[in-house]
Amino acid sequence: MINDIPRVRFAPSPTGYLHVGGLRTALYNYLFARNRKGKFILRIEDTDRNRYVPGAVENLISTLSWAAIDYDEGPDKGGEYGPYLQSERLDIYKEHADILVKNKKAYYCFCSSERLTSLREVQQKQNIQSMYDKHCLDLSEEEIKHNLSEGLPYVIRLNVEHGKKIKFNDHIRGEVEFSSDVVDDQVLIKTDKYPTYHLANVVDDHLMKITHVIRGEEWLSSTPKHVILYKAFGWETPVFAHLPLLLNADRSKLSKRQGDVAVEDYKNKGYLKEALVNFVALLGWTAGDDKEYYDIDELISSFSLDRVNKSGAVFNIEKLNWLNEEHLRKKTDAELLQMLRSELKDSRYSGQEYTDEYLLKVIGVMKERVSFIKEIFEKGFYFFEEPASYEEAGVKKRWNIQSAEILKQYAEKIEQVGSPTKEDYENTLKDTATHFNTGNGNVIHPLRLAVSGVGGGPGIFDILYIIGKEKTLSRIETIIKKLT
Ligand code: GLU
Repeated sequence: MINDIPRVRFAPSPTGYLHVGGLRTALYNYLFARNRKGKFILRIEDTDRNRYVPGAVENLISTLSWAAIDYDEGPDKGGEYGPYLQSERLDIYKEHADILVKNKKAYYCFCSSERLTSLREVQQKQNIQSMYDKHCLDLSEEEIKHNLSEGLPYVIRLNVEHGKKIKFNDHIRGEVEFSSDVVDDQVLIKTDKYPTYHLANVVDDHLMKITHVIRGEEWLSSTPKHVILYKAFGWETPVFAHLPLLLNADRSKLSKRQGDVAVEDYKNKGYLKEALVNFVALLGWTAGDDKEYYDIDELISSFSLDRVNKSGAVFNIEKLNWLNEEHLRKKTDAELLQMLRSELKDSRYSGQEYTDEYLLKVIGVMKERVSFIKEIFEKGFYFFEEPASYEEAGVKKRWNIQSAEILKQYAEKIEQVGSPTKEDYENTLKDTATHFNTGNGNVIHPLRLAVSGVGGGPGIFDILYIIGKEKTLSRIETIIKKLT
């Protein structure tokens, strides 16, 4: 190995948002680096100006930071091998393309787009793979000089020698072999003087001393071109590891049409970063046992490229939901409070003030009942507002001619207690039931409807105690008015 310390990179093209597949690539690189005490680099591959999206780099960086996937070198961090934005390295690529031209491993091509289109059409008609026909390979030095001085637009192409076998060892797939006959004379420098992905990627991986290229399977077919480039430069190739595709439940390629693919969507829906990271880690990797719940330190210590699968990984949203609950359950009340406060700002209760003490009580009774922290505002809305209506089925089943009388008496009794404890609410309920010579249920259910509007939820005495005497009494008064 070139270097004892592994150096890996995540090299996204900033196309607008971070795809969950990108998150997985970033995560595997990160886990690999941390596990092996190596370095993890973020490099932005922004040489395709047609796909340039303003703000995409910032968005990528902030999404990685949300997921707590931390890198050692990168555009906002600097490092020995920077700059880490490819658009700031154009001279480096041109210099390297020139070296290849000098060594006849690449050549200038002045073909017009019309010529290339008609070439492609002819090849399509003949049912053969469209490829450049090396038309400009044999231009003389004079012709090239002349064309350049005339300012003719040009590209620089890789000179692929046909009739060769290109072999490389993929850490996940084993030996991969391609025939050079199917590799096109790839453009390395485009007419706009920007390098293509292939040239910039290889040059940077070499100059940045990358030891392992860990990336998605969709790049496997580009690897022969890269291997040819490494050879052309006389450089050692890094270790390649192509990660399996992500699939929808029907085993088609993961797509927007069947669900969210942007990390941001999951973040906005309230998924915990710990859960999403845990979930994504399992998309193609397993420690070899049945363990599914991992915190980040466990992932770092158990991750290995040797246990990454070849076959596609199905994106199973139920598993993500389950993991989200599991990670939520591990949070302390203090952490939940912080999360609830931040959700409160975006909720319809944003203008209202609540003490920490109040919110902690709500958390105490609701945390086991929700999969997302913001569900506390949905399922436990009655802690934040009076019920606007009463569940119809509940009213039908639980509200009878005696209910109003019962609740009235319950309210009168509570009124007399200074500041009722949970036990006071409970004892008063028993007393009321005894007084009416009826079961506790005939008090509990109407009372539950009165304060919460719904049938289920945490223990009724908890609800009463949390919302307090004043609200309990006024909600009883309201239901009596509304239902009689
Ligand atoms: N820029 C490529 C992408 O957007 C990087 C592929 C690679 O890692 O080589 O995914």
